[in-house]
Amino acid sequence: MPYADEMLKAAASRGHELAAPGLSPRPRRKVAVLACMDTRIDLFPMLGLQRGDAHIIRNAGGLVTDDALRSLSASQRLLGTEEIVVVMHDGCGLHGASEDEFAQALAADGVLPNWRLGAFEEVESTLRHSLARLAAARELPARDHIRGFVFNPETGSLREVRGAADA
Ligand SMILES: [Zn+2]
Repeated sequence: MPYADEMLKAAASRGHELAAPGLSPRPRRKVAVLACMDTRIDLFPMLGLQRGDAHIIRNAGGLVTDDALRSLSASQRLLGTEEIVVVMHDGCGLHGASEDEFAQALAADGVLPNWRLGAFEEVESTLRHSLARLAAARELPARDHIRGFVFNPETGSLREVRGAADA
């Protein structure tokens, strides 16, 4: 059963909690978080964030795609963030997935998209690559504070992966 009606009901029952009169759309902590869309990652308690603190950008893998860069660029250039945190995780659905099989399934449906799934073999090296891409992205005026973390949904631990420049 589709869940959208339940969602509308949920929102209607707590409008007083959801309203944020006067809360600035500019992130209070001046930080943008790019994270995997995985259901097990509850970013706000994990990172000690409250509503209004940060921009949250999520996609499959928490990968630095063109669209993630678009959002991060808007976050910095329009809304004043100066720091980026990338959150990937153990047990990601993209870890060990087959780029070829995914492309073949799309092709079978007559689709040849201009994006890739983003399957990867190793979370740490993938995250380091993302950090390097961000560090080189001139779309982003603020690149002095870019960090990468890997969450383990089984243990709840969050570990840092240092970018190549810090190694
Ligand atoms: Zn994931």
